[in-house]
Formats: sequence, structure tokens, C-alpha cells
Amino acid sequence: MNEKIGKVLIIGFGPGSFDHITQRAREAIEECEVILGYTTYVDLIRGLLREEQTVIQAGMTEEVGRAQEAVRQAKKGKTVGVISSGDAGVYGMAGLVYEVLMEQGWTEKEGIGVEVIPGISAINSCASLLGAPIMHDSCTISLSDHLTPWELIAKRVEAAGQADFVIALYNPKSGRRTRQIEETQRILLKYRSPDTPVGLVKSAYRDRQTVIITDLAHMLDHEIGMLTTVIIGNNSTRLYDGKMITPRGYQRKYTLNAEKQKLAPHQRLREENEPWALHSVVPEQKPSSVSSWDLAEEALSRLHGTSPDPSPLADAGFVQEAIFEFAVSPGVANKKLSAQQMLVLAEIVGEEGSMEYTPHHQILVSVPTTNPEQITQKLTEAGLLVQPIGDVVTIKACDFCDGEKTDSIPYAERIQELLGGLNVPKEMKIGFNGCGMACYGAVTEDIGIVFRKGKFDLFLGAKSIGRNAHVGQPVAEGIEPAEIVGLLERIVQKYKEEGHPNERFHKFFKRIKEIEGFEHRDAPVQVLVDAVCGD
Ligand code: SAH
Repeated sequence: MNEKIGKVLIIGFGPGSFDHITQRAREAIEECEVILGYTTYVDLIRGLLREEQTVIQAGMTEEVGRAQEAVRQAKKGKTVGVISSGDAGVYGMAGLVYEVLMEQGWTEKEGIGVEVIPGISAINSCASLLGAPIMHDSCTISLSDHLTPWELIAKRVEAAGQADFVIALYNPKSGRRTRQIEETQRILLKYRSPDTPVGLVKSAYRDRQTVIITDLAHMLDHEIGMLTTVIIGNNSTRLYDGKMITPRGYQRKYTLNAEKQKLAPHQRLREENEPWALHSVVPEQKPSSVSSWDLAEEALSRLHGTSPDPSPLADAGFVQEAIFEFAVSPGVANKKLSAQQMLVLAEIVGEEGSMEYTPHHQILVSVPTTNPEQITQKLTEAGLLVQPIGDVVTIKACDFCDGEKTDSIPYAERIQELLGGLNVPKEMKIGFNGCGMACYGAVTEDIGIVFRKGKFDLFLGAKSIGRNAHVGQPVAEGIEPAEIVGLLERIVQKYKEEGHPNERFHKFFKRIKEIEGFEHRDAPVQVLVDAVCGD
């Protein structure tokens, strides 16, 4: 190999600030004997240049000339840097350099060296300033029709709009090109609501950075220029505290308190929780008159939650089903199921659903349905207690000696009424036992209440599972019945408001050190011996 053969480094230097240039890009800029770039870009990285480096600046329209010059210099044995803002492979110089090389019949083995150094592209830098808008499938579309026919660009906008992509528009508008963005807005309004969140980021991570959050209807009321990237949300994108956020999970599950609920992370990948996934499409069920396009459209309208046009699948007899999950029990104190209740339950669960017997005085039911309200109604009419599952408060009361010790039952029922099913950071069990024997294990629940001699003892922060499980800390004895419900409400409310997502109550208590005047004490440390199975 000819030792004098040089190389071209195609360097993406990110949005503009030195903090967002990669280490390899910095080194590459340092390595170069010659740097070629559009004047504005050279100005942005000037602080990283050395005096002895030759800098060739050029106007925006001279890109091909720049690429040719870079190859020419490298052939002379020079190390040449071609700089692009963002990523050099995204509407940047990487493709052009390769095009010039391809024309010359270049190969990696024989020819000059080529290295493309990745950088943070505008879609990423701008998204970071808006919140998290590109969490789901997204695409970039350049609205510049200098090198691409408008017809093709419009087709891509149309397709992206239809397929519910989050869209990042590059080169949205210039002094002369003003109609493209108007046309884009018009097309997207066919598929997205006028209040779809839109972010306009100008000069991300540069001196004149501006960030505007608006919506699809009003986006043109703001300044958009050559230094702006426009990020248009999909049908799930939401505004929260001035940020644009696109949730990742499709919200397609019924629960009791909300018609739709996100799947908990560990539930996401279970097949039965993904009725919309490819594995759920049984080929022979597809009516032949329904094309894959119809299926795609149906999937999209399901996602939107609205289907303005008559749905081809509904016409063909398809009705939207989702999994309804809940817990069922005969009551707070009552532990006995009647044969009639079992029959009602069996009929509801049928062949398709499932029932799971749990250690928490509840049966977990999971059943595909189009009508969760009807199921709740039938079970309630049969005298069953239907409760939500997941990160909610569950009351686990004893059977009050088969209903003989009735004094404290009204308190258990009141607590169930006020707190049962309340959403909290992590599942929370309140154990309620009707006498000092506490034989239903109240003291091993997150909160334990034991009724004794007409008053209540309170235990907080048990760790009910794991090899370092421990009982709750006894924090008070002899609490007056008139006070217990209010006290519990305040404790649960504080946990609900101040607990971190997924933080169990015992961890929360330890972190905040004190709750309602009760101070946290560490549970005694136990010596753990590695348990080999069978030991
Ligand atoms: N290679 C670049 C894109 C060049 S095309 C990259 O990967 O980011 C030029 C377009 O990029 C601009 O019209 C604008 O839409 C977008 N852009 C580049 N840098 C930007 C920045 N710092 N802030 C906002 N948009 C930017």
C-alpha cells in the first residue's frame, strides 16, 4: 500500500456546543491537516482548531466541490477532515464523499482511508430539549426540495402521518422555501388532532437556542427557519409540565378505576397482554376481503382510540377486545364463597379467561372482554368484592373468628371503603386482625393493625418477602377506635404523594425516617447463610 495515501475523516460534531462533541470527533479534528467545511460550521468549531491546520471554508451550495476537494487532498497523502453539524450521515457530507469515491471506483482495500465519525443529530439534541418526544417509532423528513422532488417529500409526510410516526422535520423553511411547511401541516392535520404537541427548537445547544412548544394547529404562528428542527408528536404524545412526552406502552388494558392502563414493565412481554401483536393474528381468522392495509389502518385507529371511518374489521365481525384483570373475593371479613358465586365466576371466566388462587385472600381473574363494566356488575350483584390489582392498596383482614368477633369489622370495612384499590407507588397490603392472636399475620404486612381490648395496635413497614423478611415495627399500642381510620388515611396519603415510583412502603418509611410522629427503627440485622437448594 502506498504510504503516502491519506484519509478523509467525515466528522459529525453534534448540535454545536463543545460539551456535545464526542471524544473521537475531537481527536479527529485534532488529527487533520486540512479541514473543509461550511463557513458557519467552521466558526462553530474554531476553538478546537490549531494554527497550522489548513481550513477551507465554503458556502452552503458548494457541497459537491467540498467533497471532491477532500478526496483530492487525501489522495495527495493528507489527512482531511470534512465537518458536518449533527451527524455527518444525516443530511450531511458522508453520503456525498462516498458518491464522489464511488464514481472513481474506490475500494476500501486499495483506496484512501475513510472514517465516518458519528455525532448527535438534530433529532436527538432537539428532542432532549423538549422532553422525551421520540420514545416511540419516529422518522426524519427533510423538507428541502432542492434535490428531492416535492411530490416524493409529500408522499413521505403522508405515509408518516398515516403510520403514526413521531416526525422530525429538518430544513423546514428558508427565506425562499416557505410553502413546504404549510403543506406539511395541511397533510398531517388529516391524520392528527390539531392539538397534537409540536416542538420547535432553533439552534439547539448554540448561543441563540430557543425552544417553543406549541401544537399542530398553531405551529406556523411561530418563527421557523433554517436553524429550526420541528418535532411533531404522534397520537400518544402528551404535554406534561411544559415537556413533550411520548409514552412507550400502548395503553390497551382495562382495570377497574381507569378504562385504560399502562402495563407494568414486567407484564409488557407476556403474550396474553399483547392482543395487538403479530403472534395474536391468527391467519385463518382474517377475512379474505380485509387487506393488510385494512389491518394496518385498523391497528392505527385502535391506537388512536377513535375510529371516525367505519372500520373494515368491525364490518367483518371483528370487535375490539382487551384483557380485563381484577381481583375478586367474598368480602373483607367474609372468607366463604357460595356455590352460586363460584358459578357466576366460572361463567365469566369461561374458556378464554384464567383464575389464579393467591395467598392474599383474593382470586386473580384475567379475561378478554369488550365490556368490563358488565363483568363488574354481574360479580357485584352476586355479592362479590371486585378490586383492582397492581400498585394499589389491598386490605387483608382476618375472618374475625368466623364472624364471631364483630367489634372491629366496621373499621375494617371503612378502611376498605376509603383506601381499598387506591393507587400507590407500589402494591401495599394493610393487614387487619380482629384480636390479639393476630393469627392472619397482620404484623407481616406493609401496615398491620391489631384490635385488642377495644383499641388498636399499629405496626409499620414489615418486609413480607425475601430471605431478609421481617415483621413490622410496633409503633403504637392502644390507639382509640375513633382515631385509627384517620391515622391510616394520613399515612397512606403521604406514601401516595411522596413515595418514589416502585418504592415499597418499608423502604419509604426508612427513607423519610418519620411518619405521623412514628420514628423509623431498623429491623435487627440477621446473619444470612447462602442457602443451597435442599439445605
Ligand atoms: N447533519 C445534521 C443535519 C443537517 S440538515 C444533523 O444530523 O443534525 C440542516 C438542518 O438540521 C437544519 O435545517 C435544522 O433543521 C437541523 N439542525 C441542525 N443543527 C441544529 C440545531 N443545533 N438546532 C436545531 N436544528 C438543527
